[in-house]
Amino acid sequence: MNEVPTTYFGLNNIPYNTDVSLSKKSWIRQGGVCGCWIDPTSKKQLVEVCKYLCKKGIDFDIVGQTSNIFFHSTYNPEAVISTIGVKDYVLVNDILTVDCGVSVVKLAKDMLEQGYAGFYGLTGLPGTVASAIVNNASCFECSMSSMLISADLLLPDCSIETWQANDFGFSHRSSVLKRKEKSGVVLTVRLKLKKADNPEAEKKKAEWAMNYRRTKQENKGRNLGSVFASRKMKRNLKNIVTVIVQNIAGAMRLISKRRAQKNMLLWLYGYRDLAPYVSDRNVNTFIWQDERAEQMFTKYKEFIGKVFDNAVLEIEERF
Ligand SMILES: Cc1cc2nc3c(=O)[nH]c(=O)nc-3n(C[C@H](O)[C@H](O)[C@H](O)COP(=O)(O)OP(=O)(O)OC[C@H]3O[C@@H](n4cnc5c(N)ncnc54)[C@H](O)[C@@H]3O)c2cc1C
Repeated sequence: MNEVPTTYFGLNNIPYNTDVSLSKKSWIRQGGVCGCWIDPTSKKQLVEVCKYLCKKGIDFDIVGQTSNIFFHSTYNPEAVISTIGVKDYVLVNDILTVDCGVSVVKLAKDMLEQGYAGFYGLTGLPGTVASAIVNNASCFECSMSSMLISADLLLPDCSIETWQANDFGFSHRSSVLKRKEKSGVVLTVRLKLKKADNPEAEKKKAEWAMNYRRTKQENKGRNLGSVFASRKMKRNLKNIVTVIVQNIAGAMRLISKRRAQKNMLLWLYGYRDLAPYVSDRNVNTFIWQDERAEQMFTKYKEFIGKVFDNAVLEIEERF
C-alpha cells in the first residue's frame, strides 16, 4: 500500500487524518484501517484533492455518510475522501444548485419549509445528495433523481464534464455509477423544483412518512436500511407455511406479522442463530450488532438466497 504524502494537505489547509479506523467513521461502525481520511470543506478543495491523488497514482474511495456501505475488516484503503464538508447550495428561480455533500435530510426539510413539492418522503433519508443520485435512492415516491436536470462530474482523466439526467442510466436503486459502468466524482447537482399546490398537506405527508419510519422500520443504529433492492419470495412449501402462520399470528394479535415471518423463516430454513442480526421489523434489514456480525452477514446472504428469487444486493460491500 502506498503511503499518502500528506504535506500537500497541510500546506493547503485541507483537513485529514492518517491511520484512521473505519469503525470510527462508518455508519455501522465496521471496517479496517484507512491510510488517510480526507475531509475537504469546499468543492474547490474536493477537486484539488482528487486531482492530487490521481497525479500521485493513489487509489481513493469517495463516500458521503457511508449509510449504504459495509466496510469489511479486511478493507484497508489507501485514502478515503468524505464529501460531507462540501455542503453549499443556492436556490434561484426554482433551480437548486447543490454541492455533493449536502445532507438529504437537511435539504428536504429546508425545501419543505419553503413550500416545494416532492421532498416530503426525503426528510428521513440518510445520506448525501450525490449518493442519492448515484444510488437513485427513493422513498415514499420521492427521489432526487426525479428532479435532476444535470450534474458536474470530475472524471478519471481529471476533466470536469456536465451530465444530463439521462446520462445516469437510472434503474431501480441504481445508475451507471453504482453499476460501475462509468466512473466519476459527482461535484454539483442541479435540480428543477416545483412549488407544492398545498404546502401544508406536504408537511402532513412528511410527518406521516417520518412516523412510518419510526414505527415500521428498524431504528437501531447499526443497520443500512434495506440490504436487497428487489426480491421475490419463492413459491415453495416453507414460504407458503410462513405466510399462513404470519397471517394467523397477525390476525390474533399474538405477535406482529413481520416478526412472525422472521421467526418462521429462520426456523424453517435452519438459520435460527441469525435471529439477533435480522430485524424484527423487516427480514430485509441486517443489524451489525456485535463482532460476529461480519461473519454472520455471509450466512444471512445465503439465507435470503434460499427464501427469495432475484435478490439483488442494494448495499455495497468493500473487501
Ligand atoms: C436507516 C436507513 C434507511 C434507509 N432508507 C432508505 C430508503 O428509504 N430508500 C433508499 O433508497 N435508501 C435508503 N437507505 C440507503 C441510503 O440512505 C442511501 O443509499 C443513500 O443515498 C446513501 O447516502 P450516503 O451519503 O450515505 O452514501 P455512501 O454510503 O457514503 O455512498 C454510496 C455510494 O455513493 C458513492 N458516492 C458518494 N459520494 C459520491 C460522489 N460525490 N460522487 C460519486 N460517487 C459518490 C460511494 O462511493 C458509494 O458507492 C437507508 C439507509 C439507512 C441506514
